[in-house]
Amino acid sequence: MDFSLSPQEEAFRKELCDWLDENTKELHHRLRRAGSFGSAGPFSQQGEPDEARDFTRWWHKKLYDAGYVGITWPKEYGGRGATLMEQVIFNEEMAKRRLPSGVGGLGIGWAGPTIIVHGNDAQRKRFLPKILNGEEVWCQAFSEPGAGSDLAGCQTRAVEDGDDYVVNGQKVWTTGGMGADWAILLAKTNFDPKAPKHRTFSYFLMDMHSPGVTVRPLREITGFAAFGETFLDNVRIPKSLMLGNKDGGWYISMSTLEFERSNSTSTIQYMSTIGNLIELAKRTRRNGRPLSEDPVTRQRIAQFYIEANVGKYIGLRALTRQLQGKTPGPESSVGSLLTMELGQRIEDFAMYMQGPYSQLIEGKYAIDNGMWQRSFLSSRGRTIMTGTSEIKRNVIAQRTLGLPRYTE
Ligand SMILES: Cc1cc2nc3c(=O)[nH]c(=O)nc-3n(C[C@H](O)[C@H](O)[C@H](O)COP(=O)(O)OP(=O)(O)OC[C@H]3O[C@@H](n4cnc5c(N)ncnc54)[C@H](O)[C@@H]3O)c2cc1C
Repeated sequence: MDFSLSPQEEAFRKELCDWLDENTKELHHRLRRAGSFGSAGPFSQQGEPDEARDFTRWWHKKLYDAGYVGITWPKEYGGRGATLMEQVIFNEEMAKRRLPSGVGGLGIGWAGPTIIVHGNDAQRKRFLPKILNGEEVWCQAFSEPGAGSDLAGCQTRAVEDGDDYVVNGQKVWTTGGMGADWAILLAKTNFDPKAPKHRTFSYFLMDMHSPGVTVRPLREITGFAAFGETFLDNVRIPKSLMLGNKDGGWYISMSTLEFERSNSTSTIQYMSTIGNLIELAKRTRRNGRPLSEDPVTRQRIAQFYIEANVGKYIGLRALTRQLQGKTPGPESSVGSLLTMELGQRIEDFAMYMQGPYSQLIEGKYAIDNGMWQRSFLSSRGRTIMTGTSEIKRNVIAQRTLGLPRYTE
């Protein structure tokens, strides 16, 4: 593991910090107007109110114009063409300042990278620039009512008809589906019952505005509708929008999931949430003194800090492997599981610290305008999305520890 930065990376950090110092004043002014929607800022929720969405678009454009969106993406498609290490520096500086990212996290985080690796040149030219400039927003239509952990149980069918595939089926938990322009879609294209299951799927880029696509919002415990149920009724997708080869979609979807997991496991954001927790402890009084003086509270926060650092170093090991041209390795499942569960425990403890006030999400007595409550409620999903904790433990048991696969 190498912690030192090259002169080029140091120069990038300086340039970035100068830019952020210059632009954060206006950002905070607008942020106050947009309101706060979670302990990580207004971006911790999807399906957020209009003011937050307008704010996100404005901030995205600022970042994009300055060259800070798609830092590792090739220059020819509008990216910065910089190294993974520079992306990490950017993530760190943003998290240190508790700044939000821009629009289209899914497009930039995993749909775009999948297109870069598996798409043809025409697909890259058509889609990547509009993902980067925030013009087109993407969603992921993989899960189905009967196929979540066991994605190979997908039943959505895509049947060849002239120059198109005709798709019928139902997807669910489509994050951001209601406002998305495009979807990455997994559908069955091989109906031979003797074919190996993993050789029966293809991977499509689907226009969410096509006739036959209906998305019904699903309201969550947060009160927001982040997900949708996506119904596909004779949707025509041109053959040119299949990614990779026919019946080869399963393996592409696995690389999408790798990008997704590596994008969702940053401990940097927890460092910033722990910072918020410390501030909360200082201003919350219990039995006549601040909670920051309470020994149990102090030990719990110190323990979160220790675990966040463990997660950070596991992440750095995975990063070192990637910088050496290898895959993130088995550590990424360990890191992902650790950080997702840690995030839930931190949010849970914030509720404990607030005592009876933890029940207030609105009104003049709601602490920090209810941001902790919203984050607490949305944190439940962290140990389900990108694979449940049970599935990740199975992966660690089999692939890292070499234990035999469980069979009944
Ligand atoms: C916040 C959030 C965002 C999401 N966004 C998207 C999205 O944009 N697009 C999309 O396609 N999907 C999305 N999902 C869906 C997500 O991928 C699935 O919910 C997840 O894969 C689990 O599938 P399931 O809900 O069908 O549960 P199931 O697979 O039915 O699992 C139910 C329970 O059984 C356990 N279980 C299942 N199999 C095993 C096993 N082999 N061993 C041990 N335990 C097992 C699970 O751990 C779980 O506790 C999202 C989910 C969440 C929470």
